[in-house]
This record gives sequence, C-alpha cells and structure tokens, in this order.
Amino acid sequence: MVTTSSLGFPRVGVQRELKKSIEAYWKGSASETDLQETARTLRLRHWTMQKEAGITHIPSNDFSLYDHVLDACALLGAIPPRYKWQGGAIDSKTYFAMARGNAEVTAMDMSKWFDTNYHYIVPELQKDQTFALSSTKPFDEYSEAKAAGIETRPVLVGPMTFLIISKKATDFSDCRCTLVPGIVAVYIEALKKLEALGAQWVQIDEPALALDLEDRYKDAYKTAYKMIRAALPNLKIMVATYFDGLRDNTELAVNLPVNGLHIDLKRAPDQLDAVLSKLPADKVLSLGLVDGRNIWKNNLSASLDIAEKAVAKLGKDRVIISSSCSLLHTPNDLDQETALDPQIKSWLAFAKQKLSEIATIAKGLNDGRGAITAELKASDAVAQDRQTSTRIHNQSVKAAIKAITPAMANRHSPFSVRHQKQQAALKLPAFPTTSIGSFPQTEEIRKARADFKAGTINAAAYEIAMKKEIEHVVRFQEKIDMDVLVHGEAERNDMVEYFGEQLQGFTFTKNGWVQSYGSRCVKPPIIFGDVSRPTPMTVKWSQYAQSLTKLPMKGMLTGPITILQWSFVRDDQPRSETARQIALAIRDEVTDLEKAGINIIQIDEPAIREGLPLRRADWKAYLAWAVEAFKLSSCSVKDETQIHTHMCYSEFNDIIDSVGAMDADVISIETSRSQMELLEAFVSYKYPNEIGPGVWDIHSPRIPSAEEMAGLLEKAEKVIPSDQLWVNPDCGLKTRGWAEVEPSLVNLVKAAKTLRDKHKRAAA
Ligand code: GLN
Ligand code: ZN
Repeated sequence: MVTTSSLGFPRVGVQRELKKSIEAYWKGSASETDLQETARTLRLRHWTMQKEAGITHIPSNDFSLYDHVLDACALLGAIPPRYKWQGGAIDSKTYFAMARGNAEVTAMDMSKWFDTNYHYIVPELQKDQTFALSSTKPFDEYSEAKAAGIETRPVLVGPMTFLIISKKATDFSDCRCTLVPGIVAVYIEALKKLEALGAQWVQIDEPALALDLEDRYKDAYKTAYKMIRAALPNLKIMVATYFDGLRDNTELAVNLPVNGLHIDLKRAPDQLDAVLSKLPADKVLSLGLVDGRNIWKNNLSASLDIAEKAVAKLGKDRVIISSSCSLLHTPNDLDQETALDPQIKSWLAFAKQKLSEIATIAKGLNDGRGAITAELKASDAVAQDRQTSTRIHNQSVKAAIKAITPAMANRHSPFSVRHQKQQAALKLPAFPTTSIGSFPQTEEIRKARADFKAGTINAAAYEIAMKKEIEHVVRFQEKIDMDVLVHGEAERNDMVEYFGEQLQGFTFTKNGWVQSYGSRCVKPPIIFGDVSRPTPMTVKWSQYAQSLTKLPMKGMLTGPITILQWSFVRDDQPRSETARQIALAIRDEVTDLEKAGINIIQIDEPAIREGLPLRRADWKAYLAWAVEAFKLSSCSVKDETQIHTHMCYSEFNDIIDSVGAMDADVISIETSRSQMELLEAFVSYKYPNEIGPGVWDIHSPRIPSAEEMAGLLEKAEKVIPSDQLWVNPDCGLKTRGWAEVEPSLVNLVKAAKTLRDKHKRAAA
C-alpha cells in the first residue's frame, strides 16, 4: 500500500502562539512551565491534525523552541566554549544564550537555511571538537506523542548536513570530515534510544545532498551511513533530501545503506527517472510532490501522473507520498483566512490543506483515480481557472513584456558620461553623505498607521501625521549638513508589503505567518497574477519631501528581485517572467519620480544574493535575469538622473561581476561590522561606479565616533579610489531610536568632512 508522510509541520501555531509565549518567557512575564505548556499544546494539535488527515509517517522532533539546527547542537553537545557549558543536559538559559546572546556572551551566527527565508543557527566546530549526547528532546517528543496515542517518525538533522552547514573555528584547519566518527557515535546512541522507545522509522534530513559536494564529503557520507547501519541493522531510516535535485549525487544517495530515500519532485521533477532506474530493490522511495515552499493547491492529476510512474516501477509498498520538504515554510491553515478573496483562496493550500492533498494522492494510487473523482475534478477546475482567469492574466502586461527591447535594459550613456552630467547637475562635494532610506519608526508613526488601518483616523489625518514626520526628518538632515537627503519612509510598514499593496497581482493574508528565525515570523505577500502598477506609489511623498528643501531628495524604491524573493511567487510561469513584470512596474515608478523632479532614485536590492540557486551551475542563468530585471527597472532615466542601489549583506566576492553589471551609479553596501574586510572583493575587481561602504553598523545600538568612521573610510580608500566613495550607514535606520540616530549621523557627517579636509590639505 502507498503510505504518506509530511517531513515537518510549521511550529508557531496559527495565531503565532509559540512566538508570543517565547517572547513572554524572555521578558519574564511567563514561566518556563507556561512556555513548555504552550509548546506541548501546539505539538499535540499538529500531530492530531496530521493523524486526522491520514498521514502515515507523522514527524516528531520537527518542533523547536527556536531552531532545529540549534536543537541538533544541543543534542550533540556541540556548544561553543564561550557558553561555559559544563556537560550534562543543556538548560534553557544556555540554549537561548546560544540563540540570542545575553549581557555576557554573544549569540551564535545565523544564516539562511539553504535557499529558504528561514534562518538557522550556524553550528561552530572547534579544533578537536567532541560530541556527547546532551539533550533528550527527540526522545521526549517521541514519547509524548506515543502517550497521546500517536506513532511518529522522529526527525533528526543528518550528521553530514550538520557538518557541512557548520562553520569551523579559525584554528581548525583539518577537514571537517575528520569529525565523522565522533559525531556519528552520538547519532548511533540517539538512534538506539529511539529504537528502544519503539520508533519504527526515523527521518534523517540530508538536504546537503542537493548541494555541489566535494569528493571527500561524498566519501564521508558513505562512511557515516555505513557506521550507522552497522550499529542499527533493524531501525528503518529514511534519508530526506530536498530543495533541489540530486544530480551528480544520485548514485551516492540511492546507495546509502538506509531503507528509504526522499526526493523533492517539486523543485526537481526531472530527477525521478534517474532515481527510479538506480534505486536498489530493497528501498522505499518518498515522493515529495506537495510543495512545502509555496502556497498553491496541488495539481492532483499531474502529481498522480508522476506517482503512478513510480508505483508502476516500484510497486505500492515501496512508495510514500509526501510534502516536497518540511511544511515549515508554509503558513498553517488557510481556513483561518476569512477575508481573502474567495476566488484567490480557491487556488491556495496552506500546511493543513497540504496534508489532505498528500492523503488524496495516496488514495488515488491505492484505490484508483475513480476513488477521488470529486477531488480530481476540483483540482482540474482550479488549474483551468488559473489558466484563464482575467484576475491573473492581464493582456496589457503581457504585451508590455513582449515589447521589451534590449535598449530598455541599458542606460543611454556609459557611466563616465553619466557621471560628468550628474556631477554638473548635482554639484555634490567629495565623500557625499547620505543614508539608506528609513529613519526611526517611532511609536507615534506606528500608532498613526494602526489608527488609520483601524479607521479611527481618516486618510487626511494620516497624511498630515506622515508629512509632519517627513518634515522633521528633512529638517534634521539639513541641520546636520547631510548632502543627499531621504524622506525617511515613515509611511511604509515594510519595504515589500508597501509596494505589494499598491501593485496589481498581489494579495495579502491575515494569518499567513511563516517562521523567519526564532520567534520572528513574516507574512509574505502572495503574487498570484500578472503584475502592474495602476498608479504612482511613492511620488507624492518624495515630491512633498523635495518641496521642503533645496538639497537633492533621494526617491526610494524596492527592487524587483527583492520583491520576488520575499513573496510567495506564482508557480504557473518562470520566476524570471514574474521578475520582469515587477521590473516594468518599478520602471513606471522610476519614470514618474524623474518626471516629478526627483533626480536621485535608489532601488534597494538586498535580496539579490539570497536568490542564488544552490548549485553553482545554475548561478549564471539566475544572475543574468536578476541583473536584467534590475536594469529594466532602473534604465528609463536620463543620464543626469542618478540611480542608487543598496545591498545589506557582505559576501560579494562571488557575485561582484553581476553587481558591477547592474550598472547603478552608486551602490551602498554593508561593511562596517567586518571593519571593511568585505571590500576585499574590490581589490581584484575594479568597481567602475561609485560606492558607499557602510561606516556605521546599524544592527548595534552603539554610537560610532567620527574618528572611528573616518578610520573606516581611510581603510576603504586603500581599495577604492576616494573620488568614488560615498559616506553612509550600513542599512536603513527604522529599527534604531532617535537617541542613537542623531549623534551617529552627526558623527558620520563629521567623518566625511575630516576626509574632505585631509584631501584638501594634501592637494594644497
Ligand atoms: N531603504 C530601506 C531602508 O532604509 C532598505 C532596507 C534594507 O536594505 N533591508 O529601510
Ligand atoms: Zn540594508
């Protein structure tokens, strides 16, 4: 019989109960017992939901109070020395100190979980790292479910994935593979405990099998799983891979000495044939058919086409129907969305609904398509509706896309020509000062927005409140002598939502929360249809701000790739196509800003790097369309108009050519935290245009001195010619308070002036 599984379920709860409880615990307004109680209630609710949906392999230990990789660190006793852990079970104080830091000790790093928007805690491997079983969480949760009458399949982050996504201490120069025997010994101990408790199957997540792997890692995979098999001949192990196809790791993955392999057929449907032809006869194949990364209803007949192929080859007993990856990356329950447009809602499935889809596909395989006629009919109707709906398909957008010419994605003149014209028009001093866009989102601003949304103040009153804030920000920047001003983005809730709300083709949920990291959740917009911009989105605000001052006012937009990257994107056309549509909408806005007298326009693209595919071989294609989208959005302007972009991350080395190809006149980047080390990329690559390496780490409440910032600029000058340098913070200031912003920006202007003076003296 075909069985079913979900690789993991969202943890936070439909109303973000877990978030609220954890934050109350951190604040001291809830006890640890309260927190554990909430956690237990959520686990039980989610297990029950899965059982009722008919899921055979229900996951346990997929739950976490913060992050599943941090849980793995705790399980393995991989606790960095700075937490002064003495061995034994890891208490919650240590656990949360690792997650968030505290007054005495810094947190561990956070990084993106593969190509998702979920952030995991990066394990730190010491030289001579040892491992010891140090948490009972997987056992406790397995037993907890069992006591509630629910048999589960415990989930563990795999040993190789754990090692591969870790970072090594600087003095750890050996290959991390040397840690395999030590780490595997602890896995064996844990697996034996689970077996003793009665677990039939265990799911070991090895998404690293979807990465480019060096040969030594491939060998280490074999060694690790051989050891596990030898110690546990009877426990059934499912190795789960996801987020991309196995490609050159297929041979390795299918031959690991385990009982089952899970593959992601949503991301990489074409891997099925290779896996089917190579899978040894004793193994079960888990088909990831229901998207764990997106919110569209499954096309059941298309899924059945694929699954029937697998059943024909393997037989029913060797096939499991599953989500493509953990459902962690989708919101909890669509039923809660009472305000969504009914037609759009009919196209969607959240985690709970996906469970039913999994069960339905399995039923169709076990009992024949005739047993799910109604479901198939409904699913076909959705597919049909999405193909033809005028809500989705906008002929004028399609025509505009068709009419794109290569010239539209290029500025009229090369940078050298533009630069001269911009200099003549803007007359900026050397080391011009600016900020990244947002100013503090104060209590009053938030309240005004909330009141406006709730209807307690009207649009006119809201506009007055925002204008007052803009004027305040403008006067402040004039007073401290900044060169290029911003309006402060007071009117924006979020840099993607603000635009999504004004664009056609987007919709929003009330409870569509997805965990970003720890207790932090995001509610991504849903891009369901062709994107267009019915009316200007920012012009009124920028124009008002410009009317207040003679200094140049920078217009502020979010770029197409960032909007794409931080949304749920339609799956009925390539992402590149949707990016192009967003690009044209932003281009319209750029054109209107220019017409309204805004001569400097910044298009933020903080997410360009995180859109990179997992496999190197796919980078080139992605970067080509991402760069094209940015250029389409920015290149309508005349030479005199200065285009800025901003990226707030650090690793540029491997994409620097593409950053250059974006051809923004000025780019601002994050560099202060690393003391300008990031500028390394610019040593060998001569960045042709202007650049503002951030000199103030806005993620920290610390106020940098003018001397310190001048020092950073002097470092930057060693790598980048000084006439190309701008002076700005690392990122927007919305999360900072005025008490920090005021002195820091005063110091930043002073630092710029110090450098100007120094150069003047040198020239004299
Ligand atoms: N302009 C945005 C701001 O200042 C940029 C934010 C970002 O880079 N994430 O807030
Ligand atoms: Zn930023």
